[in-house]
Amino acid sequence: MEAPRVPRTTELEFGGTWGAACLTLLLPASTFYLLLVSRTAGASLLSLPPFPTFRSLWDPTDLGLVLAWIAAQALLAQAPLGKVTEGTPLRDKTRLQYRINGCHALGVTGVVLGAGLAGGLRLSYVYDHFLQLAFAATLVAFALSLILYLKALVAPQNALAPGGNSGNPIYDFFLGHELNPRIGSFDLKFFCELRPGLLGWAVINMGMLMKEAELRGSPSLAMVLVNGFQLLYVVDALWHEEAVLTTMDIQRDGFGFMLAFGDLAWVPFLYSLQGHFLVTHPHKVSLPAAAGIVLLNGLGYAIFRGANSQKNTFRRNPNDPRVAGLRTIPTATGRRLLVSGWWGLVRHPNYLGDLLMALAWSLPCGLTHALPYFYPIYFLLLLLHREARDERHCLRQYGLAWREYCRKVPFRILPYVY
Ligand code: NDP
Repeated sequence: MEAPRVPRTTELEFGGTWGAACLTLLLPASTFYLLLVSRTAGASLLSLPPFPTFRSLWDPTDLGLVLAWIAAQALLAQAPLGKVTEGTPLRDKTRLQYRINGCHALGVTGVVLGAGLAGGLRLSYVYDHFLQLAFAATLVAFALSLILYLKALVAPQNALAPGGNSGNPIYDFFLGHELNPRIGSFDLKFFCELRPGLLGWAVINMGMLMKEAELRGSPSLAMVLVNGFQLLYVVDALWHEEAVLTTMDIQRDGFGFMLAFGDLAWVPFLYSLQGHFLVTHPHKVSLPAAAGIVLLNGLGYAIFRGANSQKNTFRRNPNDPRVAGLRTIPTATGRRLLVSGWWGLVRHPNYLGDLLMALAWSLPCGLTHALPYFYPIYFLLLLLHREARDERHCLRQYGLAWREYCRKVPFRILPYVY
């Protein structure tokens, strides 16, 4: 049976072509702005940091390091370790296969890094060369996005992404023209989603901790908290790697600049902003405050993990004993919607948990500067926008059943507030 053609994208998101063009420039520009501000004494978002020259950002060694890191992670991702699983059904009802070995990659990376540190590896190099490494990652993201767009132009029509098939090169370059670009069995989007960026983020954080220890003799409690919380998030994502197959990024969004830059540059270099900030702006956290922050992170994690696992288990097997007792609404598509458990509390319980954790990651930096709160603020805006995109999609997909779900579960993210 021939797969149905992917229709032209007519409803453009992110402000259409102009929005996509602006974001392609604005995302890297804001990354460097925030990193530069973080290195100034005042770390004020209202001050203009010194404009970097190309020579101050460009270092071929750092480009080599970024490429070597990605290549090493790609080799680990291809290693015959872990299991092979299937993604959700595609338009033609077939399913792609994915190798799930993120925990193995994490373990091997940890052992190699540990051996390196024992042998005198100066991981604080990451802080010293942060801007150059971020610049190199940005160049790689642009190059990869261009290759992905050109590859999509010669891909079969039914392999295109429904949201990135407008026919406008700028928009499709940004959103991602092809849904699941692969080289043989190597899935580029799945790989970039969790490996080089996410593991890179954890390594960068450790680099910040080492730099702080180098400067002040030992890492601060604030730095330990930030490292611990974010490492938990990374380990959790890799432990539940299979769950990424049911997220919007994998199921619906194509692989273009938005995800490539996000995965390779934005996540590792900006999500580590709290650690980066603490190196130059130390903050003393009292033990009771630390205990409160740990509790907040724990609460956020419990909601985030509970909700994501419940939906993933339900989507994979609605008869699984862990979800079989939950109440559901039938839809015309044959799929059902959960209306009790976490998904009966609000319509995006996983976003609520994620946002609580985001706040807990910034609180160790104190309340004197707005900069370390960039992540929770940006993340709130991202999730509000993402939630609106998802609502539109679910309404299109489930129609009356979705309206019924919204009636039964009226709040979107925060019970009784929003
Ligand atoms: P979700 O995992 O929330 O997936 C939304 C989909 O879930 C819907 O399209 C629908 O798809 C299904 N769904 C919605 N309601 C129900 C229900 N009641 N019962 C059953 N299925 C339902 O979306 P995201 O991909 O946005 O988020 C995944 C996680 O990743 C979240 O925790 C989010 O916070 C996190 N995230 C983190 C980011 C970061 O930078 N740290 C960035 C983006 C996301 P269908 O019915 O087709 O299965």
